[in-house]
Formats: sequence, structure tokens, C-alpha cells
Amino acid sequence: TFKAVAIDKTEAGQTVGIRAFDEADLMDGDVTVRVSHSTLNYKDGLAITGKAPVVRRFPMIPGVDLVGTVEASSNPEFKPGDAVVLNGWGLGETHLGAYAEKVRVRGDWLIPLPQGLSPLQAMAIGTAGYTAMLCMMALERHGLRPDRGPAIVTGAVGGVGSVAVALLAKAGWHVIASTGRPEEADYLKGLGAAEILDRSEFSGPSRPLAKERWAAGVDTVGSTTLANVLAMSKYGGAIAACGLAGGMDLPTTVAPFILRNVALLGVDSVMAPKSVRIEAWNRIARELDHDKLAAMTSTIPLDQVLEAGKRIVEGKIKGRVVVEIA
Ligand code: NAP
Repeated sequence: TFKAVAIDKTEAGQTVGIRAFDEADLMDGDVTVRVSHSTLNYKDGLAITGKAPVVRRFPMIPGVDLVGTVEASSNPEFKPGDAVVLNGWGLGETHLGAYAEKVRVRGDWLIPLPQGLSPLQAMAIGTAGYTAMLCMMALERHGLRPDRGPAIVTGAVGGVGSVAVALLAKAGWHVIASTGRPEEADYLKGLGAAEILDRSEFSGPSRPLAKERWAAGVDTVGSTTLANVLAMSKYGGAIAACGLAGGMDLPTTVAPFILRNVALLGVDSVMAPKSVRIEAWNRIARELDHDKLAAMTSTIPLDQVLEAGKRIVEGKIKGRVVVEIA
């Protein structure tokens, strides 16, 4: 047997707890991995609390990303002892996930642990950090460079936000960090933010266009926040949208797009192709300052993940949380 967090569905609703699973419960796949660390992402909080229907089968083991060691493999690319990373592909949503001592998965979902990262560092980055890099890559692909103007990051104290601040600052951007936690200004400046903006500026309905303030952005919040960020984008700017921590709606107009040539760049991490993943992970391993990564990371044991899952959907988690499994 192996220990895992289980989400079960009963007539009364969903129950969550830690219990033993049987090897026979492992799902189809050609590689069995012994998990050493996972992490806490917003989506894990949604799964644990049942606040949004991210879990698509029951019982489910939540946890959308992991690092571990291959225990058994019939996939020619992996052999026992290999250190591997997995994020997305439905892990913790449709496929039994990472808050478990063991997973069985498809080998083509796995990538080798990037050179230069310890297992703990890889999960300190996790889905959130890798998504922040996908956002930066989307802005670069759009042709944006730091000489075009500032870059805004919304939800800056959160996991994606913290990594985005550090990555953009390292790449030379003047980073404006938007947060509802002004008491974390020193934390954000330590990560490289040049300015702190109170998120209340974005909480009301947006005008179609407002004063031009930034050339680029990473938005983790959605809703009126993203609408305002678009309305305040400079001519020719672009915003990479990856999150919905403030809501799934987007009450905007076409004005920023058709009058200011602003682009809205969608970013998904879950189904990103393997080549993109490897590029993103290797770039983070090279470009993210390890001291800054340590400054944004805390570690919890598996039995604290249920409590932490409630806190992340309340917007109360700072930076990245690594979940120690083995
Ligand atoms: P997180 O650590 O909870 O960060 C979210 C941050 O958003 C919070 O720390 C808070 O920042 C801000 N926030 C929370 N509630 C808000 C509200 N009601 N109004 C305005 N701001 C609010 O979560 P995360 O793991 O970084 O994920 C961030 C978002 O990205 C989530 O929506 C997640 O689902 C999404 N995501 C998407 C992908 C993808 O593939 N597209 C991948 C990873 C994550 P402040 O306290 O600084 O204001």
C-alpha cells in the first residue's frame, strides 16, 4: 500500500483525508514514480476545497505536480533511479495525482529533472514557476523587450506572481508588482519589484481606455483586474493571462485591442507540448536566482496540505509552498 490524500465523493458532498491506497489502484501508465516532493498550487486548493469542479473522477488524489525517482519503467526513455519532474497533463484532475508516495503515469508526460536543480528547488518552482516562465516566453515571442516600458505582475505575492516578478526583473524589466498585501512590499522588492501598486486600483469596473502605464504584463487574477490592466496598457503592449484568482469573467471592451494594438496572450501550462516544457524548465533553471527562489519558498509535510489548500483559495499563501512527501 501507499499513503495519499484522497478526495472521495459521497451523497453528502466531497470528503478529503489521508488514507492508504493499494498498488492495484494505480492508474494506467508505463512508468511508476516514487514521489519525493509536490507543491501547492491554486488549482490544488480548488480540488481540496471543492470550490470549483477541477476533479473529474473519484476517488481522486490531488496534486498537479511532482518530482521523484523512477521505480519501474517499460518506457525506453526512463529507467529505475532516474530523477523526473511532472506537471499538468491532468494529474490531480483526471489522473491520480501527486499528493501520494507513488504514481503510475505515461512516460511521455515526464521530463528529466533539469540540470542544476535539486528536487526541492524543482518543486519550489513547480507548476506556478513554470507557468510564470511560459508567460515571459509569450511576451518575448510577441517581440516585447524591457526597453518598451514597465511590466506589471498582478497577484504578485502569490506563487505565479512571485516567480514572475523575479524572472522579469532578472531579464531587465522595470517590474510593477500589484498586490492586496502592501505589508509585503519589502518581500516583493527583494524579488526585484521596482514599484508596488495596490490592487484596489483594479477592483472597480474598467474604463475602455485609461492612461498608458505598462508595455507588458503577467496577469494571474482575471476579471476586473485584467480588464483594467488591458485598458492601461501602452500602445503595442501585451498581457499574458494565466489565472483567475479574482474571477473567471473578463469585463473588458475591444478598445485596447483595436485602438492601442494591445494583445492578450493566453497561457496554458497543463497541455503544453513537451518541447515547450523542456525549454521553459531549462530556462528557469538557468535564469531564476536561487536565493530569490529560496526567499519565496516554504515547506510543509503532507498532512498540512489540506489546511494550506483552504488558505490558498482565500489568497492567504505567500510565494511557493513545497509539500514534502518522502
Ligand atoms: P496563489 O499563490 O494563490 O496566487 C494568487 C494571487 O492572486 C494571490 O496571492 C493574491 O495576490 C491574488 N488574489 C487572490 N484572490 C484575489 C482576488 N479576489 N482579487 C484580486 N487578487 C486576488 O495562486 P497561484 O498558484 O500562484 O496561481 C495563480 C493563478 O494562476 C490561479 O488562478 C491559477 O489557477 C492560475 N494558474 C494557471 C495556470 C495555467 O496553466 N494557465 C498555471 C498555474 C496557475 P496578492 O495578495 O499579491 O494580491
